[in-house]
Amino acid sequence: MTTAIENVRVFDGSALGAPRRVVFGETIGGAGAVADEVVDGTGKVLLPGLIDAHVHVVRGRADLEDLALAGVTTGLDMAAWPAGFVDGMRRQKGVAQVLSATVPAVGPGGHHARMPGFPAEGIVTGPDEARAFVARRVADGADYVKVVTEAASPQGMDQATVNALVTAAHDHGLLVVAHAVTTGAFRVAVEAGVDVSTHAPLDAVLDDDTIARMREAGMVSVPTLTMMEGTARVFTGAGFRYEHARDTVTRFREAGIRVLAGTDANSAPGAPFAPKHGESLHHELGLLVAAGLTPAEALAAATSLPARTFGLDDRGVVAQGGRADLVLVGGDPVEDITATRNTTAVWIAGERVR
Ligand SMILES: [Zn+2]
Repeated sequence: MTTAIENVRVFDGSALGAPRRVVFGETIGGAGAVADEVVDGTGKVLLPGLIDAHVHVVRGRADLEDLALAGVTTGLDMAAWPAGFVDGMRRQKGVAQVLSATVPAVGPGGHHARMPGFPAEGIVTGPDEARAFVARRVADGADYVKVVTEAASPQGMDQATVNALVTAAHDHGLLVVAHAVTTGAFRVAVEAGVDVSTHAPLDAVLDDDTIARMREAGMVSVPTLTMMEGTARVFTGAGFRYEHARDTVTRFREAGIRVLAGTDANSAPGAPFAPKHGESLHHELGLLVAAGLTPAEALAAATSLPARTFGLDDRGVVAQGGRADLVLVGGDPVEDITATRNTTAVWIAGERVR
């Protein structure tokens, strides 16, 4: 099955081009190829399939269907188990593709260790357990390692333990993503040399020194403003304010730190807030623009930049030979980011799913 979209402006992952013809099967092909189906793209914009850099697959295929219908063709899962469930999700066709951290590493005293059903193997009590933890993630087929950092032990893992996890993950060539929702947790993550932080601090705007260290280290942020907005509403008494997270993102952008779109979409019992799979990414794009990103930067944060960060070389851009994960929207999202909600068609590896 070959599809041609005629007269469509293409957002290639960084900028919007003049109207042209795009032809694709499973991958994006040459401009002259013959098509089985022709779609009129007049007045529309073609985007690379969107990538949500922080999701949780809880209900199984239903979550992946919701992502796909909203134009989210890849989801980066940040905690899922057991390995058989994750493998089953990876094999689903015609829905969003999922990568996973499998089981995250958490400290023995924190909130995560007490979540119902949290597997004991995720609790890491000292640096000597780091290598075995990472080896199990490699055996599970984890695409990256997730660690939950907290401001201080004994609630979370101590600094030496987080450091050892990062070293062990890097020895296996895996990126480390650190959950951090306070400024203290960010400092632990930065000190350990993690590659990606996820969430943004609610207790205060992140300080200049920590931001400078993140920039020097080339750290990437997935602030999940959608989740921080929802969480701040629940924990109002704790001095947690959404504005701290938002203003931190403003400063990340000014400092040149790469910011990726992620929502923490989940349907987990006991989670403080449950962003809905798919539609929440469109909300996140709006929050990123409100925090100071241009609409084009927000689109890159949900396409080319997560692909580059996580080594997904076959997607995130509209380019010859790339995977045909594509989203057609009405209007111009580079002018008005809310146009991404006017989704008229979605293709995953060339198969139309909406
Ligand atoms: Zn999460």
